[in-house]
Amino acid sequence: MNPFIYSRAASPADAVQVIASLRDRRPKFLAGGTTLVDLMKLDVETPDHVIDITAVPELATFDTSGSTELTFGALAHMSDVAADAVLRQRYPALSEALWLAASQQLRNMATLGGNLMQRTRCAYFRDTSYPCNKRVPGSGCSALEGINRGHAVLGVSDACIAVYPGDFAVALAAFDGVVDTLSPRGTRSIPILEFHREPGSTPQIETALANDELIVRIRVPTTTLGKGSTYLKVRDRESYAFALTSAAAAVSLADGRVRDARIALGGVATRPWRAREAEQSLIGQPLTEASARHAGELAFRGARTRPLNAFKVPLGVNTVVEALMIAQQRA
Ligand code: SF4
Repeated sequence: MNPFIYSRAASPADAVQVIASLRDRRPKFLAGGTTLVDLMKLDVETPDHVIDITAVPELATFDTSGSTELTFGALAHMSDVAADAVLRQRYPALSEALWLAASQQLRNMATLGGNLMQRTRCAYFRDTSYPCNKRVPGSGCSALEGINRGHAVLGVSDACIAVYPGDFAVALAAFDGVVDTLSPRGTRSIPILEFHREPGSTPQIETALANDELIVRIRVPTTTLGKGSTYLKVRDRESYAFALTSAAAAVSLADGRVRDARIALGGVATRPWRAREAEQSLIGQPLTEASARHAGELAFRGARTRPLNAFKVPLGVNTVVEALMIAQQRA
């Protein structure tokens, strides 16, 4: 591990002030540390200054009782939010996305803000003996012709096909979540669907966040769609595994037909992926297995597969169908 300077921030303003003073360095904020410390041990992440924000209490609260929005501090722990009774009852997709992520030990440590910031990466990114455009821009992508069974089929580029590995952001995408930030330039709010970037020719840039910008809060507008929702995750083993495919689905019904629908995909794209055309196809229709399958097929139209990950398209369609059926049961 590279040597680095460690400092602690007492408030969000303090954290931003410290990072603003380190303009010619490579600083990083430290929250739960479940990704950053891991990658620092591998010499994949090499910050020269780590600003610990874990002692900032106002970032650790969350409130699911609001009449217009749910609010989650960036340092709220995944396990605490997953267990929230209101969230489990009224927004099961959000709760399930957290329960199904990582392991209980990791969920106890990991924070919501850190979860959004986990790197979009693959095994080659973690192994410094392989070329990787994300780790070393311009060095090549080992996955294009390598082992790419788990890689993305949507939002890919010739520079990188790594899949966005998170679950919570996928559920947030279904509910139009917003990320509030603070930087030396002030505050701003970033819609979750604009927060993560597709790789394009610069896969090393994964989010809209500037280097000196701190996530302070995540907000979700309240919606009647929440109750009729689910997050379905398909993976090689039942615990502690990334999604091969996942779907956050939410529906509301009126007179036996779909009034509103949300579909977001995980495990298949380079960023949390909203399937709007698929959603639109359901509006005004009875929700049957056939209409759900048509929506699923629309969701994967435009997929770019490789021989090892082509199975993700039919698996993903089935995941959307099953998620919509579960959401309908709950609506
Ligand atoms: Fe690196 Fe992306 Fe290629 Fe993986 S898919 S080796 S992260 S450039």
